[in-house]
Amino acid sequence: MDIVKGNMGWIEVVVGPMFSGKSEELIRRLRRAEIARQRVQIFKPVIDQRYSVSGIVSHSGLELGSDLVRTAEEILEKVEPRTEVIGIDEGQFLGEGLLSTCNKLADAGKRVIVTGLDTDFMGRPFEPMPRLLAMAEEITKLLAICVRCGNPAVHTQRLVASEELIVVGAGGMYEARCRRCFEPNLAAQKVDEEKASTVKVRAAIR
Ligand code: ADP
Ligand code: ZN
Repeated sequence: MDIVKGNMGWIEVVVGPMFSGKSEELIRRLRRAEIARQRVQIFKPVIDQRYSVSGIVSHSGLELGSDLVRTAEEILEKVEPRTEVIGIDEGQFLGEGLLSTCNKLADAGKRVIVTGLDTDFMGRPFEPMPRLLAMAEEITKLLAICVRCGNPAVHTQRLVASEELIVVGAGGMYEARCRRCFEPNLAAQKVDEEKASTVKVRAAIR
């Protein structure tokens, strides 16, 4: 954002697959705001407790303290009037309420920075992030590196057997893949394989 007059707020969104550096980028932007002596508050959904109970942690180990919230509405309750910059990590877990929360905060003159996955394990749009992109003043799309071939990776490949939309985890459960190496149906195939092998075991027991 180049020219901002008065105390106008806005929404910045950082999207991309897992391992693309979204948390690192959020931490970088918030640290710079702190250096500029701005009042910063950071939130993340309670669902993501991968590494730290109450902090944003990147896969490379950067860390910044944050407040845990269960819903996007809880962010509105917890934001202090004097706060100037608000960071929200893992926005895809906060549901539709994230849209009105971000709008209200930006309308109130705050700079809102949200990170999240724009697509799910099948490569489908992961709401509410796509709609948040449509509302935002500034968008950054990051790519990871495909672990198979080294090309830019736009996808989050699920490696475990589950067709649930949300399965929280990192090491070994997901990896970054490019559009050529991505296998959207891999998780579903694994579910089928598991079912088939249970049937075989049952048949053997009988
Ligand atoms: P995100 O929040 O998008 O999941 P993070 O900011 O937590 O990403 O982590 C990004 C860091 O992960 C990179 O700087 C790099 O050190 C590490 N990393 C591990 N695997 C990969 C990969 N396949 N592609 C790119 N970075 C990776
Ligand atoms: Zn690849």
